Amino acid sequence: KKIEPKKDTYVISSDSAFAPFEYQDSDGKYKGIDVDLLTRAAEMQGFNLQFKFIGFSSAMQALESGQADGMIAGMTITDERKENYDFSKPYFKSGIQLAVAKDNNDIKAYKDLDGKTVGAKVGTESADFLKAHQDEYGYTIKNFDAADQLYDALKVGSIDAMMDDYPVIGYAVQQGQDLKTPIERESGGEYGFAVKKGQNPELLEMFNEALAEMQRTGEYDQILSTHIGDGS
Ligand code: GLN
Repeated sequence: KKIEPKKDTYVISSDSAFAPFEYQDSDGKYKGIDVDLLTRAAEMQGFNLQFKFIGFSSAMQALESGQADGMIAGMTITDERKENYDFSKPYFKSGIQLAVAKDNNDIKAYKDLDGKTVGAKVGTESADFLKAHQDEYGYTIKNFDAADQLYDALKVGSIDAMMDDYPVIGYAVQQGQDLKTPIERESGGEYGFAVKKGQNPELLEMFNEALAEMQRTGEYDQILSTHIGDGS
């Protein structure tokens, strides 16, 4: 089913670095699962897109202030977020997980985080999880604007552990980063494409139509395997 777009161009906000969902190749061009899914949806449904890769929390703000019409950023569908956003059908099952440096043998359970510093990206499920369990486990939280800062902080040892979505940590490990995940992941939420509550309903509908079609034809699986490969 083809839906009629209501705007010349839909502005889409996204994260600045969230591989394999959105990331820059060696030429600085953005690619990834989110980029491909939405780009193909636009081609299939016949609407125009303009991406803004501005970081997760900035992307949410852009959506809220009307500077963006839609947001795709590996964004987990939660009841709390449903108060402010409308979500598409879920397009990916995820979950969050703790990561430490490969040579760290002190942290094997959450209770080992007592007195340690744990990082996450601001505004994310991981940041919320850390906040909710801080009293229980006694760590200090450090929030970062972007993934590269977070992963670098762990590398140089300015934080002892970090939390992020498991497919993103898995991708980093696959890319040769010296990380490991000593604790089983938190069974997780699903990613959705979002619009501001009550706004641009046709945009969600176009995405849902195209997603269903891509899942039917196998193009969805193809996009995933292009960016994830074997290891995940
Ligand atoms: N899935 C997580 C969330 O929605 C993280 C998303 C991200 O960092 N881009 O909070």
